[in-house]
Amino acid sequence: MVSKSHKKCPRCNETKPKSDFIDATGSNNTKGKYCSKCYKEREKESFLEILEDEKISTLRKLKIVYGDDWPKFTFPHELQYTLWSERDFCLYCGRTFPLSPYKESFSIDHMEPLDKGGEDSYRNSVYCCNSCNSKKGKNLFIDWLDKLKPEYQKISLGVYVSKLDYHPKKYLPGLPTSRLGDGMRAWLLLDDDEIKELIEEVGRDYL
Ligand SMILES: [Zn+2]
Ligand SMILES: [Zn+2]
Repeated sequence: MVSKSHKKCPRCNETKPKSDFIDATGSNNTKGKYCSKCYKEREKESFLEILEDEKISTLRKLKIVYGDDWPKFTFPHELQYTLWSERDFCLYCGRTFPLSPYKESFSIDHMEPLDKGGEDSYRNSVYCCNSCNSKKGKNLFIDWLDKLKPEYQKISLGVYVSKLDYHPKKYLPGLPTSRLGDGMRAWLLLDDDEIKELIEEVGRDYL
């Protein structure tokens, strides 16, 4: 039976209203290939693949270079999916993250701001919603905590202490930090043995 208002989704094999179909740009479109449920599941699968790859390959390489100290030195943008996967809501306001790590709705936040000496590191970074990220601005974490609702003060403080291993009261502001850079991006493209050779050649400190 051919219907004008319904069609079959090739992934779940169910016949659904055409209005429930999504095109490759993520918009509702009667000509879209998959139903909305399948579209979301496919998005999640592709995200999990990237996350696995990031965790397995990037983290392994970081550990070759920095050992257990990697969270102090890693610049966070190399592990954005890993940061995203730490929780599924904004630690500052509770807003739920979307199923896919769409960049428009969330940001990497340096808990202690780079402008006040915060590290450009994995351990100093979290994902939060764009709105909190811009409200927080250059506030030190301890000052920002005061502006949060009590339940999120508690959650945020817990995240901070678990990642940085000290209380934000103990943080001493410093001069602006420059972002870690392209050097790391370059060696992350090498394979494990090439990285080990490079360490032997130039020493760990020069990577
Ligand atoms: Zn489907
Ligand atoms: Zn938020």
